[in-house]
Amino acid sequence: MSSSTPTIGVLALQGDVREHLAALTGAGAQARPVRRAEELAEIDGLVIPGGESTTMSKLAVIFGLLEPLRDRIRGGLPAYGSCAGMIMLADKILGGRDDQETIGGIDMIVRRNAFGRQNESFEAAVDITGVEGGPVEGVFIRAPWVESTGSGVETLARLADGTVVAVRQGNLLATSFHPELTGDHRVHRLFTDMVRAAL
Ligand code: GLN
Repeated sequence: MSSSTPTIGVLALQGDVREHLAALTGAGAQARPVRRAEELAEIDGLVIPGGESTTMSKLAVIFGLLEPLRDRIRGGLPAYGSCAGMIMLADKILGGRDDQETIGGIDMIVRRNAFGRQNESFEAAVDITGVEGGPVEGVFIRAPWVESTGSGVETLARLADGTVVAVRQGNLLATSFHPELTGDHRVHRLFTDMVRAAL
């Protein structure tokens, strides 16, 4: 494991795993899918992809991954969640299923499917603190938003109406949108730099 090329896993239970693997490779990381608890010991950082958080949560329980994921993240493993992944990193969620578990780690309340029917999918230019070179094209697909945050959470991006769509707390990063779908690897580069700094 060289300090310049961190190994970053993508939680591969469900969701757009392949796109994140490609974006991480483009950002200069060694990327690999993660499906088993033992594999959590072999990575320097973890991406939790977009997809369907209720399914991801169910599969994490079935595969015995939920507690190992919580332990590893509590222990300081850097993690980045996009969309459903943001929901998985939230300490609390609104609009989830009654039995829906999250990994948690970020002191925030996230509302699932927050943008409603008229606006289920849209794109918006998003300026992100820590990402240079102009706004990122944010792809929002039945996306969550951040309803409120605790004092240790930094807001990195808002939409024009003030809605919070990207946050960071320590080594944890989350976006409401999917930067892995656009071919722009700057958000994955930001996360890769966070992972490198934590090595
Ligand atoms: N609505 C999905 C969920 O609740 C998230 C959608 C996505 O990841 N694009 O998990």
